[in-house]
Amino acid sequence: MTAVEVADGVLVTTSAIDVTTSTVVVRGSEALLVDPAWTLGELDVLADLLVERGLVATAGFSTHAHHDHLLWHPRLGKVPRWASPRTAELAAGEPSALLAQMGPGWPADVLELLGRVTTADGDRLPEPWGEAELVVHDGHAPGHTAVWLPERGVLLAGDMLSDVELPLPFGPDDLPSYLAGLEVLAPYVARAAVLVPGHGTPTTAPLARLDADRRYLDDVLTRGDSDDPRIGHLGMAEHHAHLQRLMRAGS
Ligand SMILES: [Zn+2]
Repeated sequence: MTAVEVADGVLVTTSAIDVTTSTVVVRGSEALLVDPAWTLGELDVLADLLVERGLVATAGFSTHAHHDHLLWHPRLGKVPRWASPRTAELAAGEPSALLAQMGPGWPADVLELLGRVTTADGDRLPEPWGEAELVVHDGHAPGHTAVWLPERGVLLAGDMLSDVELPLPFGPDDLPSYLAGLEVLAPYVARAAVLVPGHGTPTTAPLARLDADRRYLDDVLTRGDSDDPRIGHLGMAEHHAHLQRLMRAGS
């Protein structure tokens, strides 16, 4: 797992599982870790990466309350880990469900840190990370939060705007919130030079991602199907069929 610098001081690593990205935002010798993931070995590599570059994590951020976005590692240190109010509430609400989703083989000291996020009030992270604007909506998960770094032109989109995953307005099934979430993100996407999805490939053409998601949802809404190539990606055919069922049930 190697780190790619997608913009000035923004490093992205990509997991072997579900093309999950982890982002390290660098400011001087400090690092903000967004959604560090996903396997134990990869968390260790992230800790090594900080050491190699002379960085110290001073904060973490979780974009939403899905288990693969709520991880941390003892080597990353005891630092504030932020999330939107709704995300923090959901992460604290069902610890046993989160643990069940993690699967076997995790050491207790890592599981202990799962979902230990606290509420970031307002629309920016506390200093020294006040450059990070929080764009909160309820698409994909209640309280889902994109991180906008205006000085760097980077939008960390969380589990939206992916090239490998379809729009996933599930858990709870809520297409209206998803569509509203895309509109909340749209002005940031328009300004972004680089977009980093929670799963998939960072891109320098963010608007194409937004267009693809709008087109897919519009196709399923208006004609019940889509020829979006992402349907062929791992696990996505099931999600596509689920959305089709939802649309039929609602019509
Ligand atoms: Zn998710």
